[in-house]
Amino acid sequence: MRVKFWGTRGSIAKPGPDTIRYGGNTSCVEVRSSGGTLIIIDCGTGAQSLGQSLLAASPTGIHGHILISHTHWDHIQGLPFFGPLFVPGYEWDIYGPKGLDQSVRETLAGQMQYTYFPVALEQFGAIVRYHDLVEGAFEIDDVRITTRYLNHPALTLGYRLEADGATLVYSTDHEPHSRALAAGEGQIGGQDEHHAEFLRGADLLLHDAQYTAKEYPAKIGWGHSSAEYAVRIAQHAGVAKIALTHHDPLRDDKSLDQIVETLRAALRSRGSALEVFAAAEGQSIEVEPGLARGPSKVAAATGTGETHARSAINSERANGSVVLAISDRASTAIFAAAVEAEGIPLRAFSDPWELPGYVKAEPPSMVVLDHSPPRVDGLAICRAIRNGSLAGNGADDRADIRAENRADTQPLPVILLADSEDAAGGEAAGVTEWIVRPFSSSYVRTKVRAWILRTACRWVRAPIPQDEESRLGVLKSLHILDTKPEPRFDRITRLAAALFDVPIALISFVDWDRQWCKSCCGLEAGEISRDASFCAHVVHGREIMIVPDTLRDPRFADNPLVTNTPRVRFYAGAPLILDNGKCVGTLCMIDTRVRSLDGSAKNLLQDLRDLALQELQQKS
Ligand SMILES: [Zn+2]
Ligand SMILES: [Zn+2]
Repeated sequence: MRVKFWGTRGSIAKPGPDTIRYGGNTSCVEVRSSGGTLIIIDCGTGAQSLGQSLLAASPTGIHGHILISHTHWDHIQGLPFFGPLFVPGYEWDIYGPKGLDQSVRETLAGQMQYTYFPVALEQFGAIVRYHDLVEGAFEIDDVRITTRYLNHPALTLGYRLEADGATLVYSTDHEPHSRALAAGEGQIGGQDEHHAEFLRGADLLLHDAQYTAKEYPAKIGWGHSSAEYAVRIAQHAGVAKIALTHHDPLRDDKSLDQIVETLRAALRSRGSALEVFAAAEGQSIEVEPGLARGPSKVAAATGTGETHARSAINSERANGSVVLAISDRASTAIFAAAVEAEGIPLRAFSDPWELPGYVKAEPPSMVVLDHSPPRVDGLAICRAIRNGSLAGNGADDRADIRAENRADTQPLPVILLADSEDAAGGEAAGVTEWIVRPFSSSYVRTKVRAWILRTACRWVRAPIPQDEESRLGVLKSLHILDTKPEPRFDRITRLAAALFDVPIALISFVDWDRQWCKSCCGLEAGEISRDASFCAHVVHGREIMIVPDTLRDPRFADNPLVTNTPRVRFYAGAPLILDNGKCVGTLCMIDTRVRSLDGSAKNLLQDLRDLALQELQQKS
């Protein structure tokens, strides 16, 4: 792999006589594999010159890839000035961290709104595709890429590129988890060890080194490393060569030289073979495969073939273990798998009354326990946990936790697992949320991540209808579940799909733990978990439900039917309410585009629904 620096400055461009050697442009790096794959990491102001050079070399276009670490201005400001985006014949894939409420595309479009820039994102002449990334691994041609969240005030990904036997790691912007380490003291452990794992064995590491250890104490929480920390962690991780980058705008060439000299002297005195230099704009360097440092654990630990790297917990939020006290094995297995998939340690207890004491001694990230009175009173245990942790945490501790991680001020999530929800009792006891049986593993997985990240989970399960038991009885007595498709129902879904010009129309029934489809137009016959079911919301609400854009709906944006195939973007469902008043299912339509339904279309949907009901209640 060949690496060329087009921008090495942090925060803001700083051209001028004092920065002439290391450069004034903000972050932008060009990487080429020996197979010819072009990958650009970050598009700070350096991207402007890179763009001109690409246009000069290939006037008719090429296919390239752009990895964005995060969308702070100094990492994307060059994008609107990157010429090849405007030239037909060019083709770009742009990757960046998946935001919690905005896609990469939306965030990038923000800086090109008319108030800020005269040309909109839509006006790119090149073919541009956008990819939202989370932690994981994927491949771009001959380059294998592993992503890892860094510690920065914005959602930021580090990139580990492996090709031709060589490894390059791009790790900026990043602040050490331990303040002592950033200030040049202390031992590497915990989350910093986790960071070192990501850098392990790199042949070339580009690392945030905005400050010196001396400057750092005045910059705590700004999201950057000291040069001392960068070198220390690189040495610890067995890196061969480190390029310090994201230079502070106040740092002139001379002082950068001095920093590098001091670091080199220290490395020499420790007998270290680590090479250190400060990245300079215009500098080009070949990343050679390393000798005998062994395969990295990072590469070994991640699976292959994931194009959209799988989510994992932002490490800084998941400091402690997840504590489980669940009596039934099946539920324990689902929770354990969800927790382990995030790489968080798990502690399981068979006696839930051991929890309050344990939580007080070793604060976990999250607690999950049963509530099945009279055998186990989860509410009482939750109260004990809440009281214990209040009594155990001194005011000073709390202030410290807050300063260290401002976002993390919410209390410990305590989740109760039960057959039914006691909302009032739960609120009084301090229960964070109930999980009511039955539930699917993907639902638990999404919830676990949200609880630990302390973010809103935009996937809400439909509440259970009041008359659930009798409703299920009536559904069963229809003897329709798991029967073969029938033309009389298929006619209706075919009509619905044609009339509304939607790819998918279904007649389905909401069973105890699933939505089962009797007639599927445009979709393979089958069933989905009740957790993910849109129709279960209609069955609970007993009226037509229209979701014009799932991505803007807090109930559905994180639903796996939205984030994965069939990528539901629009949903409209009408309830199938029998003459006896029981709502058993729906007639619904799904589109992958944003849609709306006007009044007359709604009437038409109702008509079709009535036809389905007629068929359903025909005595046979
Ligand atoms: Zn930055
Ligand atoms: Zn930043």
